[in-house]
Amino acid sequence: MNNQVTIPQLTARAIEIHETLLKTFGEPIWRTPLPAIDELVSTILSQNTNDVNRDRGFDSLRAKFSTWELVRDAKTDDVISAIRVAGLANQKGPRIQQVLRAITQERGSLNLDFLADLPVEEARAWLTKFNGVGPKTAAIVLCFSLNKPAFPVDTHIYRVSGRIGLRAEKMTVEHAHPHLEAVFPPETYYAAHLNLIRLGRDICNARKPLCAKCPISHLCDYKDKTK
Ligand code: SF4
Repeated sequence: MNNQVTIPQLTARAIEIHETLLKTFGEPIWRTPLPAIDELVSTILSQNTNDVNRDRGFDSLRAKFSTWELVRDAKTDDVISAIRVAGLANQKGPRIQQVLRAITQERGSLNLDFLADLPVEEARAWLTKFNGVGPKTAAIVLCFSLNKPAFPVDTHIYRVSGRIGLRAEKMTVEHAHPHLEAVFPPETYYAAHLNLIRLGRDICNARKPLCAKCPISHLCDYKDKTK
């Protein structure tokens, strides 16, 4: 991204990309929304794994423990064994319990519905103060459970946004969150997030982007670097 490019110019490009992806992939639909606390745990489980194994780990955890209080108070080894299919269970198990304990300490319960009544930045700051809850996890909970204007930047969106010039190449993923929230109009966050992930998975993959098949190649300079 050229340093001279302004946010309004980037927004014009982002809208064109968003509209082209809508024409190509259609209106995407996120799975059935989960309560915020469930989405928080599911997103921690999603780290370094695919959606199928994330969901398997989540379902296995819920099958073994009927409430989040039981997960919080369980022996850590039992939580680890319940989520093993999601990968990195030795890290994710303690992390999930730590977050559940910290939320209980702060709120006295494990219900996060109160976040829906806070301004988005307050809700984001509240979530990210817990160890193990980074900007992507917070944005997923805010966007998909609480219907707040937040734009989660996962590994696909980070890569694609760099290639298509919506952010500076050296921008960190932490900085990419507020930056892309400024670039995309809030009403596009939900669909743009999901369609950019689809583009990143199916076409603009990490090792060998399929630029010849890409619906937004006319908007992307990176394709010239892959010739
Ligand atoms: S043209 Fe190539 S590099 Fe650019 S977004 Fe499409 S697949 Fe990715």
